[in-house]
Amino acid sequence: MDNTKIREQVKNEFTDYLTLRKHRKTPERYAILDHIYSTKGHFDMDTLYVSMKESNFRVSRATLYNTIELLLDCGLVVRHQFGDNVAQYERAYGNENHHHVICLECGAVKEYKNVDIFTPSQQKKLKRFKISYYSMYIYGMCSGCEKKRKVAEKAKKAEEKQKLQNGASKAKVASKDAKLNIKRNK
Ligand SMILES: [Zn+2]
Ligand SMILES: [Zn+2]
Repeated sequence: MDNTKIREQVKNEFTDYLTLRKHRKTPERYAILDHIYSTKGHFDMDTLYVSMKESNFRVSRATLYNTIELLLDCGLVVRHQFGDNVAQYERAYGNENHHHVICLECGAVKEYKNVDIFTPSQQKKLKRFKISYYSMYIYGMCSGCEKKRKVAEKAKKAEEKQKLQNGASKAKVASKDAKLNIKRNK
């Protein structure tokens, strides 16, 4: 489905939700929804606030927070808590089903698309459950951080080797001195 249709569809869905829950249908709320659905990817509240400002939408942080809560409640936006980082959000529709690969070192989040984690027999077990979407969080270390860690480990080993060598040569010098002292004392 093209994105114009998706934007129209989510707008209608939001209207139904606001009507049903007797919430006000303010232009700001629609502007926020449309802004979120004009882009793809993850965002946190700060980046959303800044990008709305840059697109010349003047909304207060309070309106932004309150609208996000509504969008979460009606399932148009999904919230993620990747590790200890601030909560991140993303649109729920028109987004391919994907998983998140999170680096525990630098906090980088990558999307992992087009993988079905359910085997046919697992899908059968879920027969009576209609899946809207699912997301798996895979925590670990990214290749960049792994490289850095290996370099650091190598440097540490080299440093330890150097220390041992220094220690050994000092010990040699000490034993020579001791021998000399013995000779002198004779
Ligand atoms: Zn990393
Ligand atoms: Zn995502």
